[in-house]
Amino acid sequence: MTALNCSNCSSPLDPTFKHCPFCGQSTAIHRFNLKHLIHEFFHAFTHTDKGALILLRDLVVRPATVLREYIVEGKRKKYFNPFTLLLLVLGITVFMSSIFHPMQGAESVYKEQMALAKTEKKKAFMATMADKQAKLNEWLEKKMNLIVFITAPLMALGFWLVFKGKGYNYAEHLVAYLILTSFLSLISSLLFLPLLGVLPPESKLWIGLANLLFQVIYICYAYKGFLKLKGFGDIFMVVVANVLGMLFWFTVLMIAMLVYLIFL
Ligand SMILES: [Zn+2]
Repeated sequence: MTALNCSNCSSPLDPTFKHCPFCGQSTAIHRFNLKHLIHEFFHAFTHTDKGALILLRDLVVRPATVLREYIVEGKRKKYFNPFTLLLLVLGITVFMSSIFHPMQGAESVYKEQMALAKTEKKKAFMATMADKQAKLNEWLEKKMNLIVFITAPLMALGFWLVFKGKGYNYAEHLVAYLILTSFLSLISSLLFLPLLGVLPPESKLWIGLANLLFQVIYICYAYKGFLKLKGFGDIFMVVVANVLGMLFWFTVLMIAMLVYLIFL
């Protein structure tokens, strides 16, 4: 009897195995050929698409079930890897941002102040600020993905602090928030981001608020099932957690912006 070993990790295999029990690689590995390569390419492509789209659909119709199954019940393989999905969505965000320039014109506040300034000194100061803000906007547009990675840990902190009694640790709250962020970022990129780019600067605040309201409603809807919340008081606490997370991130954002605008 010939000894059968996994070609990936060399562990001994039973001939009946379809996959290596140690590393999970298929036992049917053969040399690459062109036909196989083309098949693999489309297979990977269509599978990725299908898996990602199914997860997105689930995040629309039953986000609480996704969170419970993935985080609490340990059904990790059932779903398309949510971290990969988030990276895919953030790729879309950066792409859409490079087309629509959602931050463009946000420096108009300083330009208005500049026009109203009575002294030359103030005028010059506002001109510098407008210039810096315009540069910051340009940088932010390129780094839209970075914002999510700063926002998520702070938002998760808010949820963890408010719902400590529900027994989930900080990492679990962070995973939950990152999963929901995939869907929210996709909606932002496809709907709110183009609106920010197309509509005049005065409407930026309202579009931002509409986006925020949509996020809070969706998160309430998802967390209600995830944390098994009941009644108005519990739902109100989701809003409190949201506001707390936003306060954390607003503080960090303001400090970062002030440091940039004043010292750099
Ligand atoms: Zn193996």
